Formats: sequence, C-alpha cells, structure tokens
Amino acid sequence: MKNIAVIGSGTMGNGIAHVFAQFGHSVSLIDINAAALEKALATIGKNLDRQVAKGAITEADKAATLSNIKTFTKMEDGVKNTELVVEAATENVEIKLNLFKQLDAVCPPETILASNTSSISITRIAAVTKRPGKVIGMHFMNPVPVMKLIEVIRGYSTTDEVTNLVMETSRKLNKVPVEVNDYPGFVANKILMPMINEAIITLHEGTAGVEEIDTVMKLGMAHPMGPLHLADFIGLDVCLSILRVLQDGYGNPKYAPCPLLVNMVMAGHLGAKSGKGFYDYTGGGKELIPAERFKKKELV
Ligand code: NAD
Repeated sequence: MKNIAVIGSGTMGNGIAHVFAQFGHSVSLIDINAAALEKALATIGKNLDRQVAKGAITEADKAATLSNIKTFTKMEDGVKNTELVVEAATENVEIKLNLFKQLDAVCPPETILASNTSSISITRIAAVTKRPGKVIGMHFMNPVPVMKLIEVIRGYSTTDEVTNLVMETSRKLNKVPVEVNDYPGFVANKILMPMINEAIITLHEGTAGVEEIDTVMKLGMAHPMGPLHLADFIGLDVCLSILRVLQDGYGNPKYAPCPLLVNMVMAGHLGAKSGKGFYDYTGGGKELIPAERFKKKELV
C-alpha cells in the first residue's frame, strides 16, 4: 500500500503521518482546520530533528519524509487514489460516523478504511459504510513515532484478507501489530483504564497519596510511569469517557468511574493539557498537589 491518507492532524494524526512518510509512503494529511495542519507539519519537523540528533535518521531521510507529506483541508481532494485511509479525528461518535459515510462515498471501492479510535466500536463505524469487510481498527499508541505497538482491531465483518494486509503494512512501519477482536475497550484500554480507576479510588479513599501510589506502581511493578501521572498524560476526560464505554458495553459496575475522576473532569482539571490534574503542570514542571484535595470528605 503506497498511498495513504490520514484524517485529523492532531496529537495522533501528525505522528501517524510522520511514521508512514518515514517508511516511504505518500501521505495526504487532511484536517478541517488549516492551523492544525500547519502545527502538525511543525511538530513532525521537530520530531524528525530529534531523530537526526540521536543518529536514528539522516538529514536526507528527514527531507525525504517531509517531501512525502501533502496537506489538504478538503477530504475529497486528499483521498483520491489512496489504498488506505487512517482516520484520527476527534473522539466523537457523530464525527466518526459522518466521516466514514463520506469516506465510503468518495474513496475507490478497494480502499481500506481504518480508525485510530481508542474506544468507539469498529463494527458500529463499519455498519455505516457499504464496505464493512474493509473497515478495521489501527490503534496506534502515543507518541506514535516512539511506541512500537499497533492494536489491530477486527470488526465483526472485517475480512481475513484486510486484516492480513494491515498487519503486514504495520510490520513494514517497524511496529509490532497485535490482532484483537472488537469488544469495548479492545485489549489495551480494557486492562489499563480499570487500573487507572483503581488508583484514583485508592487515592480518594485516603489509602495513600499521589506520589506514593505512583511510586508503588513504578518501582514495584516496573511501570515506566505511575497510573495517576499516566492518567494526567492521557487526559482525565479521555479516561472518563473510555470508562463509560466499558461500563455501558459490559453492563458491569466494576467499570464505574470513581466520583473523584468525574468531579475533576467537571471542574475542568483534565491533566497536563489543562495545567492541573493529579499533578500541577502550570509552572512548566510537574508539582505535587496536597493530598487533602483528593480525599473523600468525612461527614460530621
Ligand atoms: P486531537 O484533538 O489532538 O486531534 C483531532 C484532530 O481532528 C483536530 O486537529 C481536528 O481539527 C480534526 N478533525 C475533527 N473533525 C474532523 C473532520 N471531520 N475531518 C478532518 N479532521 C477533523 O485528537 P487526538 O488525541 O489526536 O485523537 C485522535 C484519535 O486518536 C481519537 O479517535 C483518539 O481516541 C485516538 N487516540 C488518541 C490517543 C492519545 O493519546 N491522544 C491515543 C490513541 C488513540
């Protein structure tokens, strides 16, 4: 698959475009927001500079990668002649269903349509197209140029042929694809989000503070980042919405989000991107917030 289109040029879209372009694909990077496209190209340039500085690629590789990327604000212009579309637009069901309806109408019938969604059912997305066998999940991890895993999600109707092609294409990007079936949270978030939620419950109950919980999981379980720090990095709103998908999808109360998480999201404390979450990022670093802030208040 030579010609690829990436829809959405935010955090994930720019990384996905970077990796495909670095491995010789012609990439159409599409976003409805022209400023987001400009920012994406600047980010890709900066990340390529970092790779050059580390000796992982040469200046010529950087130039070749950048020359493989073209940007578009109109989807129809960018998806002509593409063999694979990877959608990485905002995580919103309506946006994704509309996009896949439009993609199905404008892409050649043989084009494979993939979504990078973290939590929306691939089967549901596929059902709005006339090619459900050619719709699949390609769940890249953040930051895309660094992380090796791609969770490849087979929808209910995804064919073996399409799955094999996507697995092979992923390997050629020097990634490790893992095939999973389409159930809520897939594998990564079905296991990760309950762990993060349990860390928040442990904090809320006052068993230990933020630093203590993160240190136990880092030093005791060899996790590179503690669960509360990781939740801040992912975005607390994103964590909450994935927990809701698990709760609705399985109908099991064990996935019910901790009320502290719900409160923090309502208050706009979304983690690193908003400046405050379980840590305070407003000073440019990562500062501790007094534990009292997170404890369940005793009624007197
Ligand atoms: P983001 O908000 O950084 O970027 C989304 C981009 O999509 C924006 O630039 C927006 O302008 C664009 N967009 C919205 N509607 C569009 C449309 N109709 N056509 C074209 N562009 C459109 O979001 P993100 O964090 O990059 O997430 C993108 C997808 O990747 C989501 O499905 C998310 O669940 C998934 N994901 C995110 C992460 C992560 O850590 N951020 C990890 C894995 C998967």
